[in-house]
Amino acid sequence: GRLPLIAGNWKLNLDHLQAIAFVQKLAWSLKDASHSYSDVEVAIFPPFTDLRSVQTLVSADKLELAYGAQDVSAHDSGAYTGEISGAFLAKLDCAYVIIGHSERRTLHNETDEVVATKVSAALKHGLVPVLCVGETAEDLEKFGPSAVPVAQLKAALAGVPATANIVVAYEPVWAIGSGKAATPEQAEAVCAALRAELNTTLGADAAAATRILYGGSVKAANIASFMREPNVDGALVGGASLDLDEFSAIVRYKK
Ligand code: 13P
Repeated sequence: GRLPLIAGNWKLNLDHLQAIAFVQKLAWSLKDASHSYSDVEVAIFPPFTDLRSVQTLVSADKLELAYGAQDVSAHDSGAYTGEISGAFLAKLDCAYVIIGHSERRTLHNETDEVVATKVSAALKHGLVPVLCVGETAEDLEKFGPSAVPVAQLKAALAGVPATANIVVAYEPVWAIGSGKAATPEQAEAVCAALRAELNTTLGADAAAATRILYGGSVKAANIASFMREPNVDGALVGGASLDLDEFSAIVRYKK
């Protein structure tokens, strides 16, 4: 089976000092609750400037906590002011990198082509892309529930080999930060459609192995209902990942 993944996308929150305090408290909280990382994997996505501190803490205390960045450059090095390459993230022991979050697509004009290039760049450096797809409320009305997320996935997989390790995150834009999560049935329907697309594009093995997360107003009170769905393998959590007790409770959804 697929190992469930609970991921916290911090967005533009918590500087490196706050990150150190948060990660220490999270580790204690999960240890106190006898959390087993072999049951549910936990990953955090802090701002770039926090990653070196998180690496130091995770390696010094041997924490079973994965981490990654919220974006990556399509380029390896060169005259790209302000960008961070996959090589740099790999050096910081990042396991993952979020690519194509709706906030990057809308606020930074990231097209499907840009997203596909970033996915290739991440894979090239041994990072697991957490590829975000999702429809706006307008898309939902015009095209129905899965057309846009499936098309975004298809475009992003253009250069991805069948054996690549990737994670897909279905985040309906209308559910992000709105307090209005999708219903578990809505999430399942789209995640199933995304898995069918993985099957078509990458084959049955990749479709069976790839984790598909739901994201959008996930909290402790609704996580279990999403995790009961057969095609939902975890969650990408925004706001609630910044609240220690809430995030810790989300990770422990089974208990
Ligand atoms: P919220 O959990 O705050 O709705 O954010 C979801 C998200 O965008 C995670 O990437």
